[in-house]
Parts: sequence; C-alpha cells; structure tokens
Amino acid sequence: MTNRFLILATSIAAVVASPLAAATPKPKLIIAVAVDQFSADLFAEYRQHFTGGLKLLSEGVVFPSGFQSHAATETCPGHSTILTGGHPARTGVIANSWIDLDAKRADKRIYCAEDESVPGSSAENYTASVVHLKVPTLGDRLKALSAQSRVVSVAGKDRAAIMMGGHKVDEMWWWEGRGFRSYADRPVPAVVSAINTQIDAMLGVAVAAPALPAVCAAKIAPVAVAPGKSVGSAPGTRDAGDARAFRTSPAFDAVTLDMAEGLLDSMKLGRGPAVDVLSIGLSATDYVGHSFGTAGPETCLQLLSLDQRIGLFLAKLKTSGVPFALVLTADHGGHDLPERNRERALPEASRVDHDLAPAMLDEAIARELGIEGFLLTGDGPMGDLYVSHDVPEADRPRVIAATKARLLANPKVAAVFTKDDFRGYQPSTAPVNEWSLLDRVAASYDPARSGDLVFLLKPYVTPIINPGAGYVATHGSAWDYDRRVPMLFWWPGIAGFEQPNPVATVDILPTLAALINLPVAPGEIDGRCLDLDGGPGDTCHP
Ligand code: ZN
Repeated sequence: MTNRFLILATSIAAVVASPLAAATPKPKLIIAVAVDQFSADLFAEYRQHFTGGLKLLSEGVVFPSGFQSHAATETCPGHSTILTGGHPARTGVIANSWIDLDAKRADKRIYCAEDESVPGSSAENYTASVVHLKVPTLGDRLKALSAQSRVVSVAGKDRAAIMMGGHKVDEMWWWEGRGFRSYADRPVPAVVSAINTQIDAMLGVAVAAPALPAVCAAKIAPVAVAPGKSVGSAPGTRDAGDARAFRTSPAFDAVTLDMAEGLLDSMKLGRGPAVDVLSIGLSATDYVGHSFGTAGPETCLQLLSLDQRIGLFLAKLKTSGVPFALVLTADHGGHDLPERNRERALPEASRVDHDLAPAMLDEAIARELGIEGFLLTGDGPMGDLYVSHDVPEADRPRVIAATKARLLANPKVAAVFTKDDFRGYQPSTAPVNEWSLLDRVAASYDPARSGDLVFLLKPYVTPIINPGAGYVATHGSAWDYDRRVPMLFWWPGIAGFEQPNPVATVDILPTLAALINLPVAPGEIDGRCLDLDGGPGDTCHP
C-alpha cells in the first residue's frame, strides 16, 4: 500500500466515522444559552449577515421554528420552559408577575422570582428566589443523580438566571445595579469580584458612538414615536456611569459571557467526574428591542455584535477540549413598534387603548353594575384580570360576565377566557403552530395563580399605552411573532441539518437529557426528545 493510498483510506475512514461521532457526543458539559427576545423573525432576517458564533450554530442542527408554545410570552415563563421541559402551566411561572389577592401586603403583585414570604419583600424591592418554580431544571435533575454535577447559571436578568438554573445551583449570578449579584447569603468567588471590578471601571468612563457595520448603517431612518422622541438613529455615545445605557448595549452581553467564561475556567466545568451544566441568559437584545424596536440600526448592531462575541465564546470552548453540547434559543420572540410597522406595509399596527388598563376597566364595570368599591385588578392592559375578594360571592358571576362583554366589545381584543373554559381541558395533539388560542392560554394557565379572566389582544396591538414615557415596543402576546424562536443545537463535529417544521422549547430538556443518558419520565414533562442525528442514528435512543 502506498503512502498516498494510506492517507486516502484514513480520510475515508474519518468521513465514515464522523456521523457516528456526531451521534454520540457524550458531553461532560451542557450549555444552554437564551438570547432574550431573539425571535425567529430576527434569526431569519440576520442569518445571512452572521459571520461569527451564530453562523457556526446555524451550521448545526437548526430548528428555525421553535415555539414558546404558550400565550403569555414573557421573560420569566419563557426561561422556565427551556431547561424544565414544562409549559408555564406546569412550571407555575405564568407571567413575569401576577396578582395574589391573599398576599399580606398592600401591593398584591407578585414578581415571578421573589419570595414574598420574606418580610419587606415587594414586587419592586424583592428578595430573589426560586420558590415559584414548581418543577426541577436540568441542573436539579443532574444533582439528584450525582452531587458531583456542578450547576452554574449566569444572566443579565435575575429571572433568567433563576428559571434556567433552578433549585440547586452551585453558582448563580445576575446583573443588578452596576454588577453581578447573587442570593444574599452566597460567598463571592474571586473571579466574580474581579469581573465586577472590571465592569465598574468600564462603567466609569464615557464611550464613543460605536462604528456601525454597513448593513446596520443602511437601516438608519428615524421614526417619531412621541413628541420629542424617535428611534432608528445611529446609536450614540454612552455617558460615564450610565448603567441603563450599558445594559441596553452589546457590552452587556459581552460582560455576561465574561462572567460565564470566568466561572467555566475557575470551576473547571466539564472536567469533573459528573456532567455539569452552564446556563447563560443574554438580556441585551431584549433591552434594545424594548427601547428602540426590532427593525432599526440599534437591534442590527446588537445582533451582529452578539454574533461576534458568541464566536469568541465558542472558540474558547473548542480549544478547551471539554466535550460539550450547546443549545441556543430564546425566551420569547418580539416585533417592531407600531409607528414603524405602519410605515412598512402593516397599517393595522396600533397601541392598546387606555380603556383596557385594569384600573379603567375596574371603574367602568363598577359604574355599569352599580357596585361600590374595588372590583378588578391586573398587571397591565392584556393578560390576567382578578376579581377582588371584596366582591360578594353572589355578584362575582355578573362582574365576570360584564367584564368579558366589555372586553369583547373593544375592537383591540381578540379573545377572553374565564376559569370555566379550562375545566376538563385536554391539551392539543396538533402541531404547536396550529394550536387554538385556548390551547395557547391553557399552556400558561395555573388555576391557583392565573386570573379570573384572561384576555388577548388582536395581532399587532402593542400593549404599551404611552411610548413617550419608556419602552416603545414589546412582546407577551399569543401571536406567532412572539411565540416563534430559533432552537440551535451544536457541538464540535456535529453533522448539521435543518428541520423547518415546528418544535417547542419544552423539547429541549428531553433532547439534552438523552445526550447524557439522564432518565426523564415522560409524565413529568410536556416536551419530547428531538433526534439530533440527521441519519439513521437516533440521539433519543443511543
Ligand atoms: Zn424576555
């Protein structure tokens, strides 16, 4: 055999072996990345422009239509599905905040990631906690199997870190104020102190306006949203000390990944006797989307910067030699502000009416029915409404009926559901994109936490009444622009493929569990394992 033939034979063997290698990655480290508000629409729009980490992940196993299946497409519920395999109806995390009329405090709003039993806790100034998450995360399941598994969660938002990390984290760090914080009783590792010190120094200096990639510069076109306020201009300078502007810039995700890398190195994740898990919540895309909308140069710069920073993260992981498998997805999608959508062939885009604010509904129903006192409350102009305990039992049915009728008479309301609608409900077996509105609402409905009524706005109705005062665009609806997110699975050497048909973020947990032979009883979750081997092999049945 000549040397030349030997080389050829070896390379053929390598080609033949690679799908098998891809089918059994045997990861020692599972990494889950959630990019907050990274809609399937943004992935589709920017995919052609990615050259870094998001390009690499786009060459793995790609599900461009992953669904956060439920109606309440907010951050806390969305993150709760990713590593639990459960819809918010199962995880208990039905919204970013809900109302507990029995709460022993004046403000009855409960933040999803607080422990309201701690004296002095309020929805605004709370004690961060995982108590509301009713199910185990991947990390919790690994810990139950082996105490030697390490569970690390890092995010720009506490609710992202907590809902992906779970109940038994070794390290959990989220942004608060001017740096990364954890539960009050947690010791601060040296690497966390060092990174926080670096961040503090970064925040202390002004930053020049960023250079825009050409594709983003082409999107500069100011759109007026309120008197004296517009979006769509080139991103400007950042003043020294402006932590809010920092949080609404690519630098925020960069330092979150710095923190993840710091803990990865210092804890030697993936090099211990058991499988470790690292979850990472990248929140800047959400802050940029809320502040500037999704279709301008601001989101463009954010996504192209994120692509580059994730590229550095993946390069570091690859050179580390740690066998890992990674999934990247989002907690929900999003869409652009109505003012720009109206300019762009979507004339029906609008903002919600003041009439739909819970306080206005409360007044209107009291007047209509001639009942004194407080009848109704809620946390915003869509979603859950709760009938006050002050309403006599005999009056409750007519309060609910009158509220439902008033909501349905509003031209911006799509549907209203009451507790009766969920009695005897059977989950749909249809593909998630074909679900009825009731199916979607049921997936984020918890009889103990949800409202007496749940109302949905029509498509393209943005539930922000006054864009002059704060955010201009948002998510949270039952429509597919808020439900659809990419789901990208990747590890070094993976034989990629693309499956355009719908899957769900609740499928992520069983899919990852199968890669590490972690048993998950089907009755404990809502998702199913996705076979990441595009050939005859099956990662669900290795
Ligand atoms: Zn979010």
